[in-house]
Amino acid sequence: MSQQKDEMKSILDLNLLEVEQLFAEMSELKYRAGQVLSWVYKRHVVEWADMSNLPLRLREKLLSEWAIVTSRIEKVRSSEDGTMKLLIQLSDGQEIESVFIPEKGRNTVCLSTQVGCPIRCSFCASGKGGLRRNLTSGEIVEEILHIISLLPGEAAIRNVVLMGMGEPMLNYDNVLGALRAVNAEWGFHIGARRITVSTVGVIRGIERLAKENLQVNLAISLHGPDDRTRSKIVPARRIAPVKSIVEAARNYFAETRRRVSFEYVLIDGVNSSLRQARDLGQLLKGFPCFVNLIPFNAIEGTALKPPHHRHIRAFLHELELLGIPAAVRASRGNDIAAACGQLAGEVDARRKEHRHSRVGSEAG
Ligand code: SAH
Repeated sequence: MSQQKDEMKSILDLNLLEVEQLFAEMSELKYRAGQVLSWVYKRHVVEWADMSNLPLRLREKLLSEWAIVTSRIEKVRSSEDGTMKLLIQLSDGQEIESVFIPEKGRNTVCLSTQVGCPIRCSFCASGKGGLRRNLTSGEIVEEILHIISLLPGEAAIRNVVLMGMGEPMLNYDNVLGALRAVNAEWGFHIGARRITVSTVGVIRGIERLAKENLQVNLAISLHGPDDRTRSKIVPARRIAPVKSIVEAARNYFAETRRRVSFEYVLIDGVNSSLRQARDLGQLLKGFPCFVNLIPFNAIEGTALKPPHHRHIRAFLHELELLGIPAAVRASRGNDIAAACGQLAGEVDARRKEHRHSRVGSEAG
């Protein structure tokens, strides 16, 4: 059964128009498409059998041909601050992580867009094993459905950020499909202003997104005010120069009128000097943006360190003097390794454990 399900296509990969076309091909009434999507996206019902306003024979036909949810929650970890980290197993056995961050009236979900990540930023756990594969639109949507399944009935998701594992702009089409399902009236219907796509600075993707007529927020992971600094953190291969990235951000703003934010992970002795703060200020001067300073969160396997509190404050102060809106972002879910950059570190660690124990038992 589950084997069969692996090979089935998921209805979550389709938009309203595509489900309508599918039903037309099946000689079903067009409005059934709206009914199905409303079960899934409004009522979070993910079993064909439970869709009681569909004729039984249609439910049976769909059950044999179309999957809804293809992944499953493998593990949930809850933090003292209410943050939850989900380890999700995909139909092919791969694993991803998603995070739920509660905040009064502004519950946020942080979603993965790829299994692993090809970029390999020095501070980030997700890139350590490279890219395994892209997620489908449906798999990204499923992350939200899994999180909703864990929440009490009245809790709603207000914000969606694509800041989990992976580089969204390198899985553009599937990410766009998921964004539409999150934003559309037929989907979760979460406003574009409450959706944020975070990118390491893939120019082509930023340009495309600007023209989608979506007006989602753009976050750019900058981490350095100049190419020399940045190349110590983000491997230069495939990545555009800082100046071009900022220009693409300016164009995004001009096109969408959405304020762009820059993420800047502060790493001691690498990108955290006052000089670098001033250069960052110069770089962004006159651009209505926002800078999020994120003290590096320790991950296994690097000797990197966050700067001292005093230096973080001084960096922030320097930006403020130059009139750049900025804040130091607090990390949530630290105690369960759900904080920025810690995603999937443990999955890999566990894999190693497994390997070791296998080797051990073979040897024994
Ligand atoms: N590939 C996309 C999305 C991944 S989210 C991108 O690069 O934007 C990347 C963000 O996660 C970074 O900007 C940073 O804010 C955060 N992050 C990742 N690892 C971190 C770590 N070890 N400490 C602090 N922040 C981290």
